Amino acid sequence: MATPGDLDVRWIHGSPRGKANDDPAFQVHRYDLHTYVLRQSKAVNAEAPFLYLLFGNDRCVLFDTGAGKQGEDQPLRTTVDGIVDAWLAENLREDYELVVAHTHGHSDHVAGDGQFTDRPSTVVVDPDLPGVQAFYGFQSWPKEVVRYDLGGRVLEMIGAPGHQDATLVIHDPWSGFLLTADNVLPGRIYAFDFATYLDSMERTVEFASSREVTHVMGCHIEMTREPGRDYPVGCTYQPDERPLEMTMEQLVALRDAARSVRDRPGSHTFDDFVILNGPARRWLVPLLARALWGKVRPPAG
Ligand SMILES: [Zn+2]
Repeated sequence: MATPGDLDVRWIHGSPRGKANDDPAFQVHRYDLHTYVLRQSKAVNAEAPFLYLLFGNDRCVLFDTGAGKQGEDQPLRTTVDGIVDAWLAENLREDYELVVAHTHGHSDHVAGDGQFTDRPSTVVVDPDLPGVQAFYGFQSWPKEVVRYDLGGRVLEMIGAPGHQDATLVIHDPWSGFLLTADNVLPGRIYAFDFATYLDSMERTVEFASSREVTHVMGCHIEMTREPGRDYPVGCTYQPDERPLEMTMEQLVALRDAARSVRDRPGSHTFDDFVILNGPARRWLVPLLARALWGKVRPPAG
């Protein structure tokens, strides 16, 4: 049985234009004693991605290092060191390793990697596809289920390309989290290579169905609480955003929605997500039009 945790959290969500922003660069939320969820500030980067830090007996793994802002250091290393030191004060260990890994290789998820290269007892996993395959020992990417042991906490993962070629979907039996990168989230699903994405979604549902999933955890929030309404691209203030976590039902609904639009490149809005089928030229105009409309009629909150 997965260990229950706390998702009763108000995420930092930016501030209105012209107002000072006093959000921390990273909000740290302790989901349970050995599981942390971090959100990056919208004032640093409008993508405001989520990061996951999972502790096992022998090592902890940080999935993603956030987005960058030109000319500015984001204090991820300091933040992570603080969490690891506090955890080690509660859980004494001799040699404890930090593994810096990624849900996928897009720039808003790897920008802080360089901060960890000189950290002792630390491995930074190369985010490109050969690096990911070699580190986890994939023999038949992407279908194979690969295990990665943190020490008494064995993650299982599959390859799930389509949004980005080195994307992983990861199941953590301790928390019951299904980490779904940018493939499944309450926001815009950029399925650049749609056939590959749909195949990944079919396999993700199959993979998740035979495991205990408490929450489906993606890396961004872009939907408002109003069904079918997303915040405009680049939005820096999301007071009425919906929760990060999604359910297995929503995961299956996204798979079904993806099936239903498989032959229709373009932008498709559903209650809980927007699917962008194909390369940008197929949906850029409707996406920008919606963003413009969002400015004219700002979301409530
Ligand atoms: Zn992203």
